[in-house]
Amino acid sequence: MSTTTPDTAATGPLLRRAVDLDAADPLASYRELFIGTDTDLSYLDGNSLGRPLKRTVTDVGNFIQDEWGGRLIRGWDEEWLHLPQVIGDQLGRTVLGAAPGQTIIADSTTVVLYKLIRAGLAAVTDPARTEIVLDTENFPTDRYLVEGIAREEGLTLRWIDADPASGVSLEQVRSATGPATAVVVLSQIAYRSGYLADLPGITSAVHDAGALVVWDLCHSAGSVEIALDDANVDFAAGCTYKYLNGGPGSPAFAYVNARHLDGLNQPIWGWMGRKDAFEMAAGYEPAAGIRGFLSGTPAIFGMLAMRGTLDLLEEVGMTAVREKSRLLTAFAVQLHDAWLAPAGVTLATPRDPEQRGSHITVDHPAFREMTATLWEQDVIPDFRAPHGIRIGLSPLSTSFTELYRGMAAIRRLLASA
Ligand SMILES: *Cc1c(COP(=O)(O)O)cnc(C)c1O
Repeated sequence: MSTTTPDTAATGPLLRRAVDLDAADPLASYRELFIGTDTDLSYLDGNSLGRPLKRTVTDVGNFIQDEWGGRLIRGWDEEWLHLPQVIGDQLGRTVLGAAPGQTIIADSTTVVLYKLIRAGLAAVTDPARTEIVLDTENFPTDRYLVEGIAREEGLTLRWIDADPASGVSLEQVRSATGPATAVVVLSQIAYRSGYLADLPGITSAVHDAGALVVWDLCHSAGSVEIALDDANVDFAAGCTYKYLNGGPGSPAFAYVNARHLDGLNQPIWGWMGRKDAFEMAAGYEPAAGIRGFLSGTPAIFGMLAMRGTLDLLEEVGMTAVREKSRLLTAFAVQLHDAWLAPAGVTLATPRDPEQRGSHITVDHPAFREMTATLWEQDVIPDFRAPHGIRIGLSPLSTSFTELYRGMAAIRRLLASA
């Protein structure tokens, strides 16, 4: 049809570029370790739910057979009770830039954030600090939690009006914080635009204002290099089912800087977070260290799958992962410019790779309906209201030709719309 000539012209060099990028990719062979990568399906949503590793089938099977089935209740004493901290430390070391004893696997991100924000508020002693700072582009759960906590505690919300196509700047944080600020709650990577905030700069600006910061790392854990200890971050939380491939509903992680652990005051007092849990004694006294952050029985099953990804990340290092992520998003932007922009699509993600994480968002009024058609064609990005498609690029499991195929499908549908 009328688009045949430009299409053919565009396809050649860009397809060659995809093939060349795959050939030069030092992480290319890791893709085969994931289930389903031997098909033509284009998975562009690893930022929402990572693919499973093939070894997860064996790991989970062995756990059922040998540990759950074989050790039965003895498993708790022998290993399971320690897993939240053991895996937390591995995550801290490999992904978060956190020394041991500050990271734990627990609950969901929503619940962990609630506990951390309340713990942060409890650590603020100055009664003049009555404000929580947050931004309009933060993930819904973060905004709702802060709204609920402000109501519970009689605090005031101070909203930063963030640019939907980028995110919260250092200057905005500087002007929103001051002697009335108690806690600041932000995401390191904006879930919609993919904007990568200046975590070290913002953290020190918050400290300069005499306040504490809680970072949501859901879209950054496993996709960008993070140095929580170096940045002197107070508190952080994140998901393990996104770039850490923990599986649907795998538990979250919490990081509490060592300087806040003594006297940590989290609001959900449960037996698992108590000193000597099995004494079942009267009255609550928190366990020492990060263990005092626990509330109820840890979700052991949900922690098994992420260990495979942590082993891989430990092997390849976050620097290599981040480098591939930069190349993937740069190629996605290149394909957007060549194919989608001429069809009226706009890029809702920063163009500077240093200012974005591992996904890009493209906007077009037809995308809401088009997403269902893409899914039927085994091209799987996700839709984010009002009219964005997110192209999520999980560095260990996504290839450049897979991205090429997905973007080509979007281009074809736009041409026939
Ligand atoms: C995915 C995501 C969440 C999800 O929280 P859950 O409690 O796991 O549902 C929270 N915050 C951000 C920024 C996210 O991207």
